[in-house]
Amino acid sequence: MSEKNFKNRQWVLAERPDGMVGEHNFKWQEVEVKSPKEGEMLLKNLYLSFDPAQRGWMEDRKSYVPPVQINEVMRAGSVAQVIESKHPDFKEGEIVQGTFGWQDYAVSDGSGMLSATKVPEDMPITAPLSVFGVTGLTAYFGLLDIGQPKEGDTVVVSGAAGATGSIAGQIAKIKGCKVIGTAGGPEKCRWLTEEANFDGAIDYKSANLSNSLRELCPEGINVVFDNVGGEFLNVTLAQLALNARIVLCGAISRYNEKILPPGPSNYMALIFMRAKMEGFIVLDYAPKFPKAIEEISGWVREGKITYKEDIQEGLENAPSTLVRLYTGENVGKQLLKISEPE
Ligand code: NAP
Repeated sequence: MSEKNFKNRQWVLAERPDGMVGEHNFKWQEVEVKSPKEGEMLLKNLYLSFDPAQRGWMEDRKSYVPPVQINEVMRAGSVAQVIESKHPDFKEGEIVQGTFGWQDYAVSDGSGMLSATKVPEDMPITAPLSVFGVTGLTAYFGLLDIGQPKEGDTVVVSGAAGATGSIAGQIAKIKGCKVIGTAGGPEKCRWLTEEANFDGAIDYKSANLSNSLRELCPEGINVVFDNVGGEFLNVTLAQLALNARIVLCGAISRYNEKILPPGPSNYMALIFMRAKMEGFIVLDYAPKFPKAIEEISGWVREGKITYKEDIQEGLENAPSTLVRLYTGENVGKQLLKISEPE
């Protein structure tokens, strides 16, 4: 490959995390920009997506994707613009989404954890990373396929003001459920009940979770959509309704633990309540993404789904932007703006 005469700024993985992830886990470097070969394209990153799972991708363990290697560019979903194309499916100037990492420029053949697709011209440029992206789709498939909500069900969502939780709760409302969310802080809880149509919200940082759930869900919980794990999961297990479904979407309260605490002591409730607890990975639903995006788009157009994006700026801030997810500083889908389209 020949080299361009401008630099590519990158964050690479320097050290695997042990406890809370931070800037110390990454190394900043500036390298030459490569030229694309036949079947490849050169992309300029515009917006990066931040996902709690990135902490897991940095660990050397068996998972649904291979670990990021030491000195490899940190893996991330992004929206980018094609600068030069030798790829038959993509033209110069087009806006594309894919897995292009923490860097200004990427040379890609379009493959990756999420293969490259064109962003429709009428779609807001960040939406393929938020409501029409992995988090919106996770909410859609996790709730509808695993949670199987029925009209009149009581659905409890943790991490409810986040990118995934907020959409899961609103889809449950569309399906005629009563929806209660848990979130950190009064402002996030206010947004849930006043703007996102939730029936109730619990500030888990100040309320007694068990008492508040008992009060808001007197008939028991039919569907738990869990993004947080830990104590939240244990408390909800004790309040299940008969034949409840527990959707294990994520367990962010555990991602930065050095030593994992024991599992939920209330798990026997699954037996008593003939309940089902099931995990899933949204990538397995990839062939069904286009149809799901169509349906979610309809709900957004009709005003039945609202969403928030939290846009930080500057590639140099990528590590600190990742940390925001684990400290709860993000308000809605966490993104980082890298540059403007040309
Ligand atoms: P997000 O909810 O927008 O952001 C993370 C939120 O988690 C924070 O804002 C914070 O909200 C909450 N949080 C952080 N640490 C916490 C703790 N110790 N206890 C309780 N809450 C905590 O992020 P997202 O991208 O939508 O992801 C949400 C969950 O979905 C994650 O668990 C993620 O791994 C999972 N996920 C799963 C799949 C899948 O295929 N299964 C795909 C995508 C995402 P508060 O201020 O409310 O604490």
